[in-house]
Amino acid sequence: MGKIHKLKPSKTQAEQAVRTLLSWAGDDPDRQGLKDTPARVARAYKEWFKGYGEDPEALLRRTFDETGGYDEIVTLRDIPFESFCEHHLAPITGFAHVGYLPNGRVVGISKLARVVDAYAKRLQIQERLTTQIADVVDKVLQPQGVAVVIKATHGCMTTRGVHKHGVTLVTSRMLGVFRDNASTRHEFMTGLDI
Ligand SMILES: [Zn+2]
Repeated sequence: MGKIHKLKPSKTQAEQAVRTLLSWAGDDPDRQGLKDTPARVARAYKEWFKGYGEDPEALLRRTFDETGGYDEIVTLRDIPFESFCEHHLAPITGFAHVGYLPNGRVVGISKLARVVDAYAKRLQIQERLTTQIADVVDKVLQPQGVAVVIKATHGCMTTRGVHKHGVTLVTSRMLGVFRDNASTRHEFMTGLDI
């Protein structure tokens, strides 16, 4: 579960904070076009950060063990995600690729995508997002190995600061056989064509 925030503000306080930022940007929060913006932003935050209310471990707990002896890599690739950088609240958008080598149990594939979202819909840095996804799959499924690769664009780098468009950050976490066995890792990476 997400952390319990002791001092969770009221919706009114959140909307007031948005009004303050609108003024800080240089605009008039009372003009017609911005009248409903604080309420909309507060609602949007519920969606953008809904991962705090989700339990990634619980998502993976229901597994299937009738796999017909399947013992090759399972990869869900090109999982699109949106997140927000915890340093600037700027969007991080990209794709996650999640693979694992089962140890007799597999999980419904949509669950891997939901785990990506459960961690992405929080304030993040890409490195931690990558680690959290790999570690929870490893912990709950206890497979022979887990591989996670994320390729993403960071709004805080493309729209401000160094203003570098088209730059992507690639991060990876390899556990178990993907870490120890170069050919298993190679098989996973070549299947991604990133
Ligand atoms: Zn940032």
